[in-house]
Amino acid sequence: MLLTPGPTPVPEFVRAAMATETLHHRTPEFEAIFKNTRELLLEILNMPEALMLASSGTGAMEACVINLTNKKALTVNSGKFGERFGKICKAMNIPNIEIKNPWDTPVSADEIVEIIKNDSQIDSICIQICESAGGLRHPVEEIAKRVKEINSDIMIIADGITAVGVEKIDTTNIDALITGSQKALMLPPGLAMIGLSNKAVAKIEANPKGYYFNLAIELKNQRKNTTAWTAATTLIIGLGAILEKIKADGFDKLYSDTATRAKATREALKAIGLPIYPKNPADAMTTIYTEQANEIRKILKNKYDANIAGGQDDLNGKIFRINHMGLVAPFEAAWAVNAVEKTLDELGIRKFDGTANKVFMENMF
Ligand SMILES: *Cc1c(COP(=O)(O)O)cnc(C)c1O
Repeated sequence: MLLTPGPTPVPEFVRAAMATETLHHRTPEFEAIFKNTRELLLEILNMPEALMLASSGTGAMEACVINLTNKKALTVNSGKFGERFGKICKAMNIPNIEIKNPWDTPVSADEIVEIIKNDSQIDSICIQICESAGGLRHPVEEIAKRVKEINSDIMIIADGITAVGVEKIDTTNIDALITGSQKALMLPPGLAMIGLSNKAVAKIEANPKGYYFNLAIELKNQRKNTTAWTAATTLIIGLGAILEKIKADGFDKLYSDTATRAKATREALKAIGLPIYPKNPADAMTTIYTEQANEIRKILKNKYDANIAGGQDDLNGKIFRINHMGLVAPFEAAWAVNAVEKTLDELGIRKFDGTANKVFMENMF
């Protein structure tokens, strides 16, 4: 059972949809598929414009940084992915200021406001909605609102790779909403998507930049249901299939099911004495702080067939992360918390008495 916060399992019907013969991308047949997927993507992103890129999520991060920063970026580092925005700026010779916090700590909107008030060069803010390194939810909507009140030209670049498809995001003040295929959208890796505001589109078109990630060229092509370079045809077919299914069930149902499962998991694990790591947990995953994280993960994988994720850098061996993204069945999440409780018993940490399962079921249903 794959319960890592990306990649997530690809549902059977999506694999079947992607099993058709290879289509040429410069054909009316593929353009019709592209159009259908693009319209569904615009709906889930809830943004005026959307792009699909053949790359992993990091490619979309790089594309947004390059195309939407003309002077200086403010990047928020509360984990590996926030750190990555800063590394992209350095690699691209884009000046940046970084706010660095412990991985369990959301950035404060006041701090961001202070910084942009004192530095008129900053024209983009790059931040994760959910920082997957620790499962932390940043207050992106509040930040975006307050920044726009001060200077509406500052671009809010929101990495929603573990937020799109997890929860309803208020995109009112967001200029670029990034996501990727292998997390909440339940596809194989290799497709990145970006939702864009009208202001972002205007900025991109006023000053085209980059080559592979020249978003002005992509905008021109994708509005005509084609792509600048060879499209990731198979993944675009798969994205259409998954979005059709999510839409048919109702986007809000996906969000509320995910939120309920996340809460049931958090409550179950807290009830057996395991502390939630982030101060403000996102619903994409549950992150537990424990010095025995690696032993727990090993038993979960080898004995209970549940593959969950660990931590990186300073958190290596100190956290474990259970995925909630995608169409995870409640019985799968229940199995995970049961297995964790049994594992604690095996490690002599806490006697097994079925508490995790009880609390999970009471919260889930
Ligand atoms: C997975 C992830 C990414 C992108 O990673 P890729 O490996 O390039 O797809 C970026 N940001 C967050 C928050 C992620 O979880």
